[in-house]
Amino acid sequence: MDRKTFLKSLALLPLAACNMKIQEFPKAIESLPRTDKMPVLFVGHGSPMNALEDNAFTQSLKKLGGQFKKEGKKPAAILVVSAHWLTRGTYVNVAPKPETIHDFGGFPKELFDAQYPAPGSPELAKETAKLSALIHESDDWGLDHGAWTILMHLFPEADIPVFQLSIDYYQPMSYHFDLAKQLQSLREKGVLIIGSGNIVHNLRMSMARLQTGDTRPYEWATEFDTWVNEKIAGRDFQSLVTYEKAGEAGKLSVPTVDHYVPMLYSLGLAGEKEDISQVYEEVTFGGISMRTFQVG
Ligand code: ZN
Repeated sequence: MDRKTFLKSLALLPLAACNMKIQEFPKAIESLPRTDKMPVLFVGHGSPMNALEDNAFTQSLKKLGGQFKKEGKKPAAILVVSAHWLTRGTYVNVAPKPETIHDFGGFPKELFDAQYPAPGSPELAKETAKLSALIHESDDWGLDHGAWTILMHLFPEADIPVFQLSIDYYQPMSYHFDLAKQLQSLREKGVLIIGSGNIVHNLRMSMARLQTGDTRPYEWATEFDTWVNEKIAGRDFQSLVTYEKAGEAGKLSVPTVDHYVPMLYSLGLAGEKEDISQVYEEVTFGGISMRTFQVG
C-alpha cells in the first residue's frame, strides 16, 4: 500500500468511541480449545533491513523461534501490535490472506521483493474484536514491516496464521496498557502476542549521527533504555505508562509515541508473577533501542 492510499484509509476510518468504557466479553472465546498460557513478546524491530540481514539481533530471533518449537510451544496463531499500523480507533485485521506491506521507501529492491505469505486468522481476529467494545474489525490492512521483518526470523516457514491489532494514535498511554489486559484470554488459546516497536526511536537524530559515521549510542538513548529496563525488572509498569515524567531522556527517546506503545501492550499482558526475560539488548544507529524481551 502506498503512502497516499494509507493516508486515505486513515481518513476513512470511522471515529473511535473515545469515551466508551472498556468492556469485557470473556465468554466470546470460550468455545476455542484451551492451551498452556503462551508467552508474550516485545520485539525492538529497528531497520526494515533486518528482514534480510544475518546479525546478532536476527540470530536472537531465530534462536527464540527455534526454542518455541523445541519446547512444543509452536503458536496456533500470532497477534502483532505493530508501531506501523496507526489508526483512529482500534482495529483488528480479519483478512484471510494478509498481504506483505512494504511500508517504507529508499531500500533495495530485494527488500521490496520479500514476502511473508502467512495466512490470516479471520476467526481469531473476529473473536478478538468481541473481547472489547473498543476493538473493531477491519479488512483494510495486511502485514506491515513491524510484523513481517521479525516473523521472517522467528517463524521462517510462515505457516502460522498472523493477524494484527492497530494502535489508536489518539489515545493516552493508559488506554493501551489497559486494553492489553482485555486480550489476556487469547494467550490461553495458543495465541502468541507480540508488541513490535522500539523503546528508544529517534530516527531524525539517528540519521544525523549516521551521516557523521559515528555509531555510538547517544547518552540519552542509553539512559532511557536502561531506565525502562530497570522499571520492567522492578515491575513498576505505571512509571512506564507515565514515561513523560522521566525527563529529557524520555522526550528525546520517544519523540513520537508510535514505537513506544507496542511495549505497553506486552507489559499490560504480563501477569503479576510472570517472569520477564531479556532476549536481546543493543542501541543501534545512535538512537534506536533493539531491546527485546519475553513475558512468561
Ligand atoms: Zn518501525
